[in-house]
Amino acid sequence: MVEWYEEAYHPDWRQRFQVEGYVYRGRTQFQEALVFESPLFGRVLVLDGIVQTTERDEFIYHEMITHVALMAHGAVRDVLIIGGGDGGTLEEVLKHRSVARATMVELDPGVIELARAHLPGINRGAFEDPRTELIFGDGVKFVADTAQQFDVIIVDSTDPFGPGEVLFTQAFYADCRATLRAGGIIVAQSGNVFAERERLQACLARLGKVFRDTSFILTSVPAYLGGPFVFAWGSDDPAKRRLSPAQLAARPLPEGLRCYTPAVHAAAFVHPPWLTAAPA
Ligand code: SAM
Repeated sequence: MVEWYEEAYHPDWRQRFQVEGYVYRGRTQFQEALVFESPLFGRVLVLDGIVQTTERDEFIYHEMITHVALMAHGAVRDVLIIGGGDGGTLEEVLKHRSVARATMVELDPGVIELARAHLPGINRGAFEDPRTELIFGDGVKFVADTAQQFDVIIVDSTDPFGPGEVLFTQAFYADCRATLRAGGIIVAQSGNVFAERERLQACLARLGKVFRDTSFILTSVPAYLGGPFVFAWGSDDPAKRRLSPAQLAARPLPEGLRCYTPAVHAAAFVHPPWLTAAPA
């Protein structure tokens, strides 16, 4: 008999993955964790019942959450990642030679242990890179307390329920802004914009109370309900978001990317009207 895993992310919308076998089932100090094998997606990481990443489509999510900001900035030395326990974002950040330090603040050491053991194809040794600084703790507390400064902050969090909820508040965004150097950029995992448009717009409005220029980076991540997916973008320098493909192509670009190109970058800021329209 075929076995299915049903993700209960949205109250009126369910998706199911065929399960070929379970790799890990247990509980970390903070959340329920599951890794299973799917014929279409490869290994799938689930935390508290929500799909976090999969081996086969992670490149879309991790390239787009990372390279749009790093390429737009153009001279990134210090990057802060909040969350990101699977290590996929860290791996992408480290592909930029200009990056001297990638600080990752993850609440749950159990997720990193799991990812090291069962998802090596996603993090590819990134945790062992000498430029990586791993800190275990709450990202909100870290940005409120740190005296360090960063060029880019990537919030690669779980969704706004449970431990990730605090990473979607205006107070958190204000602390992030204070932690960014001039010309800095923040990018934050947001969600499936068809299913959650009003929540995501409200989240962007909070970011807009703190940063002069905000927008969505639009892409499509198959494992996240299969539809249009956005990251929130915030910066005080509107010019950073208006670079042309030609300007971006003149900058050093990591090799071997499968989703990000300068043209895809520019297109990610072009949105169909329904996406940004006020709720009816
Ligand atoms: N791609 C992802 C998704 O689908 O939402 C996110 C992946 S990553 C596994 C999310 C990580 O954020 C988890 O490992 C979780 O422990 C971490 N996290 C949640 N709340 C956090 C907080 N307040 N501070 C730091 N890390 C947090």
